[in-house]
Amino acid sequence: MKVLVLGAGVVGVTTAWYLAKSGVEVEVVDRQAEAGLETSFANGGQISASHNEPWANPATLRKVVGWLGREDAPLLLRWRRADPYLWRWVARFLLNCNHPAARANTDRIVRVALYSRSCLQALRREVELDYDQLGKGILHFFRDSREFDLASAGIEATTRLGLARRRLTAAEVLEIEPALASMGSSLLGGIYTPDDESGDAFKFTQALAAEAAARGVVFRHDCRILNLEWDKGRVSGVATSQGRLRADAYVLAAGSWSPLLARQVGVNLPVYPAKGYSATIPIADEAQAPTVSLIDEEYKMVYSRLGNRLRAAGTAELAGWDLTMAPVRSRNVVERARELFPGGADFAKAELWAGLRPVTPDSVPVLGATHIPNFFLNTGHGTLGWTMSCGAGKAVADIVCGRPTDIDMTGLGLERFGSLAGSLSDQLGQWLKPAK
Ligand SMILES: Cc1cc2nc3c(=O)[nH]c(=O)nc-3n(C[C@H](O)[C@H](O)[C@H](O)COP(=O)(O)OP(=O)(O)OC[C@H]3O[C@@H](n4cnc5c(N)ncnc54)[C@H](O)[C@@H]3O)c2cc1C
Repeated sequence: MKVLVLGAGVVGVTTAWYLAKSGVEVEVVDRQAEAGLETSFANGGQISASHNEPWANPATLRKVVGWLGREDAPLLLRWRRADPYLWRWVARFLLNCNHPAARANTDRIVRVALYSRSCLQALRREVELDYDQLGKGILHFFRDSREFDLASAGIEATTRLGLARRRLTAAEVLEIEPALASMGSSLLGGIYTPDDESGDAFKFTQALAAEAAARGVVFRHDCRILNLEWDKGRVSGVATSQGRLRADAYVLAAGSWSPLLARQVGVNLPVYPAKGYSATIPIADEAQAPTVSLIDEEYKMVYSRLGNRLRAAGTAELAGWDLTMAPVRSRNVVERARELFPGGADFAKAELWAGLRPVTPDSVPVLGATHIPNFFLNTGHGTLGWTMSCGAGKAVADIVCGRPTDIDMTGLGLERFGSLAGSLSDQLGQWLKPAK
């Protein structure tokens, strides 16, 4: 069997790796000159099962209202009247802003993220990959007591799902990461997940692509996918800038561009780009720079130590497929890092970047089969594409090869979305149901 993987980001490359390990002939197609040059290029670097709160939850709704009109808001929605993808995405997002949906979505995120973490660990035992990996855990820290208590209340539920986390006092936070001392009394405490990890997703993607190529995977770069073709209910080929490519099966792993390609064969994917920013800053003083990967819950910023560099990343902007960097937002990423680690890095040398996270309305990726028998999905990983890449790649490879998956795939496929009209009327029915 030959499989064509569409996209050579971290998700496409892991999918190709696990397919090749199953003995399948694999070709990966990407418009870039190398693997990992789009959203997988300069992300926050976290393998973070702990970062499992879906964007759509009742608390976000309240916060978004408070952020309205603020150009530096952690989540910014730029209304684009002529963008039907955005409107449909927002409608589905609102449908997920309730406690039962948020709980179900958290369970799904944790399920994939924990599986993926174990697949990554197994992969490292199999091949040597050099990507500035650090296994020092991930530390979420808080300035707001209400936020801290709310997040702490979720520890027990995710512990039951197998995710070990613990609540820390401010003093305990500083024992784990002394570089946060500059926060003084504004640091209230933290939640620590010792088994989470960090590393450079781009280096990982490149290293794994090289291993996959050595095992026979063909990478076709500088090759733009123009059109997915279908015939007699199956995908019959892909028209590209390098001619028509054919295979027995096709896996769509084109990140934020996946919905634009999927619709060509009648598959509606509720995936929308959410622009995020990062800054990569050379370390200036080891003693003042963090070594543990961090999440600042107040500003929704993440910090990872990648060798002799500090990566600061965050913010989300729903503004279509546009990679233009808003100066105020990229400046903010650097300034937040400078406030926390004033002498730790050489901020004048910060390299700024923006990427488009492929986000679903429920923050759960879309994995597996479609109504087209030879067309499969591995996309929509949003804020956690690097975290989920190995597990999602392995699970989708199993599905393509017709094998049982290691994890339960319920709630992870496209079928969970149904029609938007149907979902809206179901929700309306719930609201109108007389209280017992
Ligand atoms: C600021 C920021 C911080 C983040 N931090 C983290 C983090 O700490 N941890 C984490 O787990 N995740 C993080 N993420 C999310 C993560 O980076 C993404 O989920 C992940 O990179 C998505 O990978 P992908 O392979 O699906 O997409 P991409 O990496 O975008 O790959 C898709 C590929 O498809 C190709 N493609 C698309 N259309 C075409 C076409 N028509 N023809 C040919 N090729 C095409 C592109 O060239 C690209 O290479 C972050 C994202 C951002 C923006």
